[in-house]
Amino acid sequence: MLKSLRTMDFKYLVEVDYETDRSGCTCEGICRCSHIENARVTEVHLDGIIRGMMNHPTTKDLRDIPTTKSKIITYGLDRILHIYKVFDPSLYDVSICGGYYGQEIGEVTLNAKVAEKVDAAAAKLLKTRNLTEAVRFLLVLEYGYLLESLNGKTFRVQKVPRESITVGRPDYYRRLDRTVVDSYKQHCLPVAVCVTQFDSDKIRYRIIDGYHRLAATEAKTVWAIIGRPRDPLQLVRKRK
Ligand SMILES: [Zn+2]
Repeated sequence: MLKSLRTMDFKYLVEVDYETDRSGCTCEGICRCSHIENARVTEVHLDGIIRGMMNHPTTKDLRDIPTTKSKIITYGLDRILHIYKVFDPSLYDVSICGGYYGQEIGEVTLNAKVAEKVDAAAAKLLKTRNLTEAVRFLLVLEYGYLLESLNGKTFRVQKVPRESITVGRPDYYRRLDRTVVDSYKQHCLPVAVCVTQFDSDKIRYRIIDGYHRLAATEAKTVWAIIGRPRDPLQLVRKRK
């Protein structure tokens, strides 16, 4: 069971900035009349939100690679949070409350419609039975359909040389949104979903999802989710 984003307080999962107004202050000693102005979220920590949803006490799970159910869920939640742009600071509301020393930051909440969509998608993710089902669900959620080249593929997490990943749309790759790329800087989950293909006897992995994540990493080898035909002979046949 995952925690709902609708009822979550994001106060310690985001960075909040604000200005303090003390005009007309007549307090003696410590000021107790300060007013908070322009309170806003400036940065969102998605890994913290994932831990909050999963009730994980440490970051250890995020550093490992998803092979077990909980790791698949970790990967899936990260995808869902990106699909609904939960990293966007403008989606949050910061409430102000009265404190002993004047106003203080109260609860930070996520836009209710976005929270509802994330909760619904997360509940469906939880019902998938393996990585292949989870990957198919996530791709349909993001793009609305599943590429024909993914039919009959099973997915596995695998470490591959970065240079073996081929990019089908280089122009698109060059025009990536930098804020999205930056949101993956601390990323330690699989960076891309690829399908195997043979290119003059060398195995290549054609990327179908994760352009931003691939662009954000500088590693020589990366964890990727690789789709292969269910029947391994199919690969050999294609090779001939
Ligand atoms: Zn004062």
